[in-house]
Amino acid sequence: MRIFWFCIPAYGHTNPTIEVVRELVSRGHEVRYYSFEEFREKIEGAGATFVSCDSFLPPLDAGAERRIRKVSTTEMSVQSFETTARMDEMLSTDVAALRPDLVVSDSACFWGKLFAQKHGLPMVCSTTTLAFNRESAQYMKHSAGELADMVLGLPRMNRAIRKLRPLGYHAKSALDIVQNKEDDDTIVYTSASFQPASESFDPQHYRFVGPSVREVPVQDKQGRPLVYVSLGTVINNHPEFYQNCIEAFKDADADLLISCGKAFDRMQLGELPEGVRVEPYVDQMEVLSRASLFITHCGMNSVSEALYMGVPLLLFPLTGEQRAVARRVAELGAGIMLGEGRTTRPARLLALVREALADVSLAAGAARMRDDLRSCGGPKEAAGFIERAAGVS
Ligand code: UDP
Repeated sequence: MRIFWFCIPAYGHTNPTIEVVRELVSRGHEVRYYSFEEFREKIEGAGATFVSCDSFLPPLDAGAERRIRKVSTTEMSVQSFETTARMDEMLSTDVAALRPDLVVSDSACFWGKLFAQKHGLPMVCSTTTLAFNRESAQYMKHSAGELADMVLGLPRMNRAIRKLRPLGYHAKSALDIVQNKEDDDTIVYTSASFQPASESFDPQHYRFVGPSVREVPVQDKQGRPLVYVSLGTVINNHPEFYQNCIEAFKDADADLLISCGKAFDRMQLGELPEGVRVEPYVDQMEVLSRASLFITHCGMNSVSEALYMGVPLLLFPLTGEQRAVARRVAELGAGIMLGEGRTTRPARLLALVREALADVSLAAGAARMRDDLRSCGGPKEAAGFIERAAGVS
């Protein structure tokens, strides 16, 4: 069969799809993956046909850029509606020429979901975050700033939605697009035990396939423990936080590796003490195979990858969605809350790092989650589910 696959330009949403694409290609299916240059190599490496969509992203003025850096839901939604309009012509040509059997769209990818709807094509939703319905959404507590952004942004959002109608796209709201629908066939890249309120999702339509990661052997952890810090790839411009980590590790009996992101000049952090390294980007799975503790912003992928490798977590969520993930990790006994978006003093950081490294029950919690996530069906199950959704298998 021929699949059109859509994703937003984000590592966290693209990475888990790669092994599923590889599996589908190995089963003889054709995957045409609409994505962005940054991900070309990974996507082509998995055997898909890469379609470059960079030129369809609307140019951003300084205000829009600032709002996106602050993770403004309104700004991101308005830009996504605009991208949908800009991609319309190319996709209409492609659908007529290539007649796809199925669309797979990331849950947050407006243009993929709206494209499937407009052309009446069957769709599988690829959810790289937790799945959110009325029950599980109770885990997500928005900050006052996030709520204000959404309420004040409504008129702008409605204008963007109205502009799409003449092109044949009938969206109700941004929330209606991104939330998980009861009867959409949906893959979620975590286990049923990690997903809050998993019993409230119809097993006919939902498949919790577990993390879709590259296999890396766990390494022997003798000697000084390694503590790994990353705030992910989207909102990682937090020099003060990294500075506090570095300060804390002057006195720690552990090595520190910080992945600080590419938007940030690491020279700003000054001279580094012995045992401390700062990189713009690392091979996270390889680092996790050696790490004893991970200080994380609680992006769903980072958390899944760490638990897959049995690494316990210090939780430092920055957004509503990340707070939901953090709360679940803490409930399952695999992580300790460090703070919610506010910066943390070095002394407190060091105390918590020491506590976490010595905590046997935390290590046991992470090991339990490792076994649970490894017992999931992974990319093979995801591929089988996609085949069944298309009526192939
Ligand atoms: N990642 C990586 N190297 C880094 C930082 C991040 O490979 O130095 C990967 C990480 O393994 C994960 C993704 O980028 O797959 C980040 O996704 P996540 O959902 O954790 O956070 P986001 O970046 O979306 O906030």
